[in-house]
Amino acid sequence: MEYDQHVHTYFSFDSTAQFEDYLAQTAAPFITTEHLELANPDDGGRDDEPDQAAYSAKLTALKRRYANRFLRGIECGDYAPRRADLARYLAAQPFDLVLLSFHHDGHHDFQDPIFRRREPKAHVQAYFERMLTGLEQTTYGDVLAHFDYGLRVLDVTPAQLEAWAKPCLQAIFGQVVRRGMALEVNTKSMDRWQDAELYELVLPWYRAAGGELITLGSDSHTAEKLQSGFAAAKQMLRRTGFTKVAFYEQHRPQLVRF
Ligand SMILES: [Zn+2]
Ligand SMILES: [Zn+2]
Repeated sequence: MEYDQHVHTYFSFDSTAQFEDYLAQTAAPFITTEHLELANPDDGGRDDEPDQAAYSAKLTALKRRYANRFLRGIECGDYAPRRADLARYLAAQPFDLVLLSFHHDGHHDFQDPIFRRREPKAHVQAYFERMLTGLEQTTYGDVLAHFDYGLRVLDVTPAQLEAWAKPCLQAIFGQVVRRGMALEVNTKSMDRWQDAELYELVLPWYRAAGGELITLGSDSHTAEKLQSGFAAAKQMLRRTGFTKVAFYEQHRPQLVRF
């Protein structure tokens, strides 16, 4: 049974979504991937660490009322100065799925409109260098989430992405494969941020690097977005030669043909 691999609730600093509103829509297993974001510029520099004891209590209460299977996920925002703290947090819970994201540089979230005023080529190259270094220097994360996050607020064309960053993205996908990670197809990036063409461009590069593991994530922060855009994402995956998507349990991918 397929289910969304990227979902937020009120356990994330930027969502007020309720579990019950998601669960009204699905009998499938359910997993949320709340923001673990240290020194978060989008939240006044605070450490956003979901309260795992409260999360466990919520899951226990939900299990009494819903027949869904409940799994435990997290979206870890890498931040080099705090990697020891991130690793400690991640090791303290039996997570099924850890998304690895590159959201901020310690000063600004990469969705901050301030980045629209930077020289785009240099900014895009710096963003992917940061991602590559992060993948080389960390060991946490099952899935590389929204590879295009730093480009969401920009209007980068496929031709520009290819000209500016193809070798770096090839190295990034090489690291994803070497680490046994999956690449996320983020349907919020495709739809709301209009980056579908960028995904279609890079998926063959990922395949060429040996990439086989793909997850589908809506990045829902409100219940009505659950699994939104999955049909179009699967069509794109078929066009680029993928026939299976991965669902994580205890950090292990289960492959399902679609
Ligand atoms: Zn994210
Ligand atoms: Zn997210």
